Amino acid sequence: MQYQSTRGHNLPQHFSDILLGGLAPDGGLYLPAEYPQLTADELESFRSLSYADLAFEVLSKFADDIPAEDLRDITRRTYTAEVYSNGRPGDDTSLITPLRSLGEEQGTSLHLLSLSNGPTLAFKDMAMQLLGNLFEYSLASSGEELNILGATSGDTGSAAEHAMRGKKNIRVVMLSPHGRMSSFQRAQMFSLQDENIVNLAVEGNFDDCQDIVKAVSKDAEFKAHHAIGTVNSINWGRVVAQVVYYVHGWLLATDGPGQRVSFSVPSGNFGNVCAGHIARCMGLPIDQLVVATNENDVLDEFFRTGVYRPRAAAETHHTSSPSMDISKASNFERFLYDLVDQDAVRLGELFRALDTDGGFDFSGTPEFDRIQEFGFVSGRSTHANRVETIRDVAQRYGVTIDPHTADGVSVARRNLREGVPMIVLETALPAKFADIVREALGTEPERPPAFEGIENLPQRFDVVPADVDRVKDVIVEHTGR
Ligand SMILES: *Cc1c(COP(=O)(O)O)cnc(C)c1O
Repeated sequence: MQYQSTRGHNLPQHFSDILLGGLAPDGGLYLPAEYPQLTADELESFRSLSYADLAFEVLSKFADDIPAEDLRDITRRTYTAEVYSNGRPGDDTSLITPLRSLGEEQGTSLHLLSLSNGPTLAFKDMAMQLLGNLFEYSLASSGEELNILGATSGDTGSAAEHAMRGKKNIRVVMLSPHGRMSSFQRAQMFSLQDENIVNLAVEGNFDDCQDIVKAVSKDAEFKAHHAIGTVNSINWGRVVAQVVYYVHGWLLATDGPGQRVSFSVPSGNFGNVCAGHIARCMGLPIDQLVVATNENDVLDEFFRTGVYRPRAAAETHHTSSPSMDISKASNFERFLYDLVDQDAVRLGELFRALDTDGGFDFSGTPEFDRIQEFGFVSGRSTHANRVETIRDVAQRYGVTIDPHTADGVSVARRNLREGVPMIVLETALPAKFADIVREALGTEPERPPAFEGIENLPQRFDVVPADVDRVKDVIVEHTGR
C-alpha cells in the first residue's frame, strides 16, 4: 500500500514512513493511493473476531509493510479489556466498543457505540493507544527516540500522555494553559508520575500554548536535533485506527450481509467522521454519515450549502461541548480530495482561494452533488439542544450521555430513516462534563470506579511563562542533548 499527498507533489511512501509525521512536505495530507476493499464475505467472516483481531484485519490492509505477526501482537496488546474497562455498569468491556441500544424511534432503532471506555474516557484513546504501541515498535527497530511536543486544552493531551506513558524512547512534553482546565482534566494529566511525561502549565491561554509549539516546530535545526514530533489529529495512524470501530459498530448492529446502517458523529476536526467516510469507501454498507456540529458550524454550513468558510479564532464560540470548538477542520482536506475526484491541481486551487478569499463555494457544481453520493448529511446543535437531549435520553432510556454525544443524538434524530439503524458514536463519558449534566439533570454524573477522588492524587507539573525560549530550555534539559 502506497501513500500520496493530497497536494500531489510527493513521492509515494509506505505506512511506516508517514507514521511519525504530520503534514506531507508539500503541505498536504497523506492518503492511500487507493482505498483497500472489504468484501461482503470478508465482513461476514469478521463476526467471530475479537476487537483486537478485527483491528489487525483492517489495519493490515493499510500497513502491509509491518510484518503480520508484529502487527497482530500490537493490536492484541492495545485493545484489551483491562485498558477499556471504564464502561457503564452492564457494558461488556471485552467488546472494547460495546453497542448500547437505546430504543425505537421513527420506525428504526437508535444505538450508542461506546468509544469512551479507555483511560481518559473519550474516543481519542481508541487511536492514541494504538499509536503509542506503533511508535514504540517503530522506534525500537530504528533505534531513534521521539519527543512529542503538544498543546492541549484538555482531551488530546491527556489521551496522548496516557498512550505514551512508560513507552521506551518516547517522551511527551505537553503545554496546557495554566489554571484554565477543569480540576478533573488537570488531575488526569498531572497525576501521571511517569518519568517520560512532562507537563508544562503555561501562563497564558490555549492559543499561546499552540503558538509556542508552532514556533519550536518552525526551528528546523532545533526540531531535528531534539527529535521533536507531534500527534495531532491529521496523523494518518490516528485516522485509520478509527476505521476499525465503524466496522465493529456495523457488525454489532447487523446480522447478515448488505444490511445498511447510519452513523452520527459529533464532529470538530473531521478526524472521526473522515474515518467513517473511508470505511464507506472501502465497501462497508453505510447509508448516511451524519456530521453533527455544535455552534461552531463551519462543517454544517459546508454540507448544507457548499460554502466552506473557516472562521477566525476570535469567531470561535466557547461551548458546552468544548472538544468540538474549532474554527477550521484540519482533516477536511482528506474528504475534499475525494470530492474533487483526487484532482490535486483542483485541490491546490481551492486552497489558494482559501488563502486569498477566506473560503470557497461548491454550490451548483457537480462536486456539490457528490456530497450526497458519499452519504453525508449534517446538522447543528446548540447548548439548549444538548441540555434537552441529555434530559430526554436520561428520562426515556435511563442513560446519561455527555454533551458531545448529545450533539450527535440531537442531529441524528433529525435524520432518521425508517428501517435503517442509527448508531451515534459516544465520544466521551459524562463524568468528564459534570456542569452540563448538573444543569440538565440536577445530579452528578456517575464516575467509573477508577476515577473516584483522582483530584486528590499528588500532581506533577511545572509552571512556565508563555515564552518559547523557556520551553526550549526545558526540552534541552530533558533530552540532555
Ligand atoms: C475530539 C473530540 C470530538 C471531535 O472529533 P474530531 O475527530 O475532531 O471531529 C468530539 N467529541 C469529543 C469528546 C472529542 O474529544
